Amino acid sequence: MPLLPIHGHAGLRTRFDDAIQRDALPASLLLHGPLGIGKQRLALWLGQRLVCDGPEPRPCGRCQHCRYALAGTHPDIHWYFPRPRLKDGDASPSKIADDFREATLERVRTGAYPPAPPGEGIYVATVHAMVQSAAMAPALAARKVYILGDAERMVMREGSEDAAGAFLKLLEEPPVRTTVILTTSEPGALIPTIRSRVIAVRVPPLGSVDVDAVLAEPAMQQAVRDAGGPSSPDEQRRLANGAPGMLLAEAEWADAMARARRMLDAASNRDRREQARTALTQGSSKARGAFTTALDALTTLIHERVRASAERGNALGASRAARAMGAVEVAKERATGNVNPQLITSQLMRELEELLA
Ligand SMILES: [Zn+2]
Repeated sequence: MPLLPIHGHAGLRTRFDDAIQRDALPASLLLHGPLGIGKQRLALWLGQRLVCDGPEPRPCGRCQHCRYALAGTHPDIHWYFPRPRLKDGDASPSKIADDFREATLERVRTGAYPPAPPGEGIYVATVHAMVQSAAMAPALAARKVYILGDAERMVMREGSEDAAGAFLKLLEEPPVRTTVILTTSEPGALIPTIRSRVIAVRVPPLGSVDVDAVLAEPAMQQAVRDAGGPSSPDEQRRLANGAPGMLLAEAEWADAMARARRMLDAASNRDRREQARTALTQGSSKARGAFTTALDALTTLIHERVRASAERGNALGASRAARAMGAVEVAKERATGNVNPQLITSQLMRELEELLA
């Protein structure tokens, strides 16, 4: 079974295609946007577009390069993402390559995969293996493509090893005919020396037609069932909220929803003590991933209020709730920087109290 077909991101695909035709695609790209919207799938599409040598429009989907790319076996498309640490701390590049070959096939076989569990990372041995492989010429295609999903999980220094220098050099001056594509839902968690060396491209959530198309994929439905997600299409659409991958993150999403409800209740009830307690539970900057997901959940909950108010003909309520959504967006923006989640939460709850209590 090939990769889950790509749906949506048509505007970006056109932009990338134009850039490739003009030979103006940057050598190092960073695709950033919310969790679960298909950033890695888009990166894989771009990889396929870059290696395809079939008829236009490319990717043609039928040439040998496309077939290998869709099967997850193209020797010049290297896809890295967080993995459990290999037992052998000094795992050799060939062991790392074997691990990723298997993990990639597993992702392709299941069709739709959940977000990488906390605790998995892109470890120094992997960064070394990647840098080493990038020095070699393409095996089959005219170009090589390196995709690093969840790039904020990259570990650059461990003990005495330092992978940072070699990796930064790879980003700054990729070997000829090499494209490096990083993806992240937390651009603020990437080290500045990486951010300054890549061209950042924001990937938006999917529109409702594209969400429906993803949900209509049999492999996606199977994965949602396996993750214990909802079976009703309406419930699926509501929870997906532009990011169908979140349906596969049942546990993380349930946790985020619970946090978001607590924040919203504390703000709506003008309960200052509960607000302070809730802010404290947002933890330190280490729990940033869970925090940004909680803010996404908050957007979903407030969006429901906007809709409910509008349905009741309460225009003032709807407009205040819409402003509350704006406040959450500002909080998300700050969360991608270096601001402490506790501070962001307590300020956000004061604003929500003004608007929603
Ligand atoms: Zn092709």
